[in-house]
Amino acid sequence: MASLGIPQNTIAVLQKYNIRFQKKYGQNFLIDPHVLEKIIRAAGVTKDDFVLEIGPGIGTMTQYLCEHAREVMAVEIDENLIPVLHDTLSEYDNITIVNQDILKMDIREAAQKYNGGRPIKVVANLPYYITTPIIMELFESHVPLQSVTVMVQREVAERMQAVPGGKEYGALSLAVQYYAEAEIIANVPPNCFMPRPTVGSAVIRLSCHQERPVQVQDEKFLFRVIRASFNQRRKTLQNGLANDAGLPVTKEQAAHALEQLGLPAAIRGERLSLQDFAALSDLLQSSIL
Ligand code: SAM
Repeated sequence: MASLGIPQNTIAVLQKYNIRFQKKYGQNFLIDPHVLEKIIRAAGVTKDDFVLEIGPGIGTMTQYLCEHAREVMAVEIDENLIPVLHDTLSEYDNITIVNQDILKMDIREAAQKYNGGRPIKVVANLPYYITTPIIMELFESHVPLQSVTVMVQREVAERMQAVPGGKEYGALSLAVQYYAEAEIIANVPPNCFMPRPTVGSAVIRLSCHQERPVQVQDEKFLFRVIRASFNQRRKTLQNGLANDAGLPVTKEQAAHALEQLGLPAAIRGERLSLQDFAALSDLLQSSIL
């Protein structure tokens, strides 16, 4: 099977199988070989690696992954694409094609079976309608991860990489920082896809920490505090925390914790670093016990 990275070959496969793009699955297929090579290089895929690809589509990036990796698992939700994948990937014996919703799959079990529980690499041109749930599921389900190299909506990549103070900085930036170091590798314009998305895209690499950058008493509580701090962005942090129904913190407790941390009473969540949030989370937790 000829390389699908070339637009004519993608068109030939789409015609052969009479494929209609499923908007509900966020189907925008990559048709630029330079971008594909950049993703593989950024992910640093070698013959030692087991790679999980989420949403292989018609197998364009999967072909590149099979060439470079030891073993690839490609998880695709759209059953119409499964026969296409068996065709476009027929010459590889290091691929497992799975027809599944990635959010329902036990990825830890796959990592155990195919990589002996060692950290895996995830590479994907993600469906944009569920980018954040997929990233959070990978992190929160504690799948052993080496890196996650993904194409996402450009604005989401900027939020993932954002630092305190800016308007892009929020709960997603902090979650990503807690689990990984983020680096935007390339901006990718709509004409690199078929059909063209209405938004700009970017490739981002998340190199996962093997040890967390901050230690907290309770990880779940930390993320409740973070979410509460950004739920009402225009309110002060004190009010955001006190107004959150899921968090048993009073305004006085929040004010006292901020004072102990030497932070101004009127500070907003977007000013706090991950280290600040970790310290705040531990103080608040002790104050409500
Ligand atoms: N990797 C291909 C490429 O780069 O050309 C296709 C990328 S396309 C942006 C996203 C792919 O993810 C589609 O093939 C879509 O059907 C699939 N997908 C959408 N939701 C999914 C889910 N929940 N689980 C697994 N695959 C999904």
